[in-house]
Amino acid sequence: MAEFSQRLIQWQQLHGRHSLPWQNTQDPYAIWVSEIMLQQTQVVAVIPYYQRFMSRFPDVASLAQADEDEVLRHWSGLGYYSRARNLHTAALAIMQQYQGEFPQTHEKINALPGIGRSTASAITVFAYGQTQTILDGNVKRVLTRCFGIEGWPSQPAVEKRLWKLAESLLPKADIQCYTQGLMDLGATLCTRSKPQCDKCPVRENCVARKKSRITQLPTPKQRKIIPEREIVMLILLAANEILLEKRPPSGIWGGLWSLPEVAMGEDVQLVARQRLGLETKLLPTLPIVTHTFTHFRLRITPQPLKMLKMRPEVRQSGLVWLDKEDAIDAALPAPIRKILLGIAAN
Ligand code: SF4
Repeated sequence: MAEFSQRLIQWQQLHGRHSLPWQNTQDPYAIWVSEIMLQQTQVVAVIPYYQRFMSRFPDVASLAQADEDEVLRHWSGLGYYSRARNLHTAALAIMQQYQGEFPQTHEKINALPGIGRSTASAITVFAYGQTQTILDGNVKRVLTRCFGIEGWPSQPAVEKRLWKLAESLLPKADIQCYTQGLMDLGATLCTRSKPQCDKCPVRENCVARKKSRITQLPTPKQRKIIPEREIVMLILLAANEILLEKRPPSGIWGGLWSLPEVAMGEDVQLVARQRLGLETKLLPTLPIVTHTFTHFRLRITPQPLKMLKMRPEVRQSGLVWLDKEDAIDAALPAPIRKILLGIAAN
């Protein structure tokens, strides 16, 4: 463990980043702004925004006094605007609760809006030299690879394990160098794809490198596999009218008007003849429409048919012919309305 931190500290001193605009300062405000900007954005993209932001809002007081609109304008283009709103709210809180003095404990900083445990740690490390643990996305990647930690890193049990591991790695001295080293390693060498292991200070003990598991770690989030169902919906057309069918009261879209549904692979003209009493001519199929329910995904193939003749002896209850425009206003499920809007537009 001590070896990990010592190697990282030495590497940071020799090869790490030392001249980023938010380095070489102990101003907690400047460090805070940079940490928030860097949360979802790459360093190169952050630099010009950071410089503009800091020249307009050089301290907590100027940020707190500004309109939220103006703060957002200075954030415009960086994305994730809740970060800017939280910065502004937190600046107001610092003015009110701490008379404009940036708080100095991890607990108080962590309690401000938009500041999580890792960000509070980074501020206390760089501004006050306190020994605290950081664990952002880059650090999670380094630790899962280096120590061979399986499981999606943001899953609570895995994250808890990573915090414990990160705490156990903290050095007795040079906390700023060490923390910066972790950040630098994750950002410059142990990158998501194609990490530069040959230059890495901890390569000799890296589990992912030794076991050739770099591409599998960190473990990606498991995607839930949703089953799919495929159906055909009949678009029966007669002059400007379209046929709607009321759905059974229970089941999906229960009681709504819809297009007549047919199982995939069934003979649609036979269904139209036997179930709906209609002689039809087949028209070209329309593009598939997909709709996702909680437990499955429905793939609908819309099949237009031109009505040639109606056999009145076949049931007509639960069926209605409507003008295309009126049909759109009926109580329809969303994907059926989408299909009808496409038809009405043609
Ligand atoms: S050896 Fe490679 S995979 Fe392992 S920590 Fe270093 S850069 Fe990352």
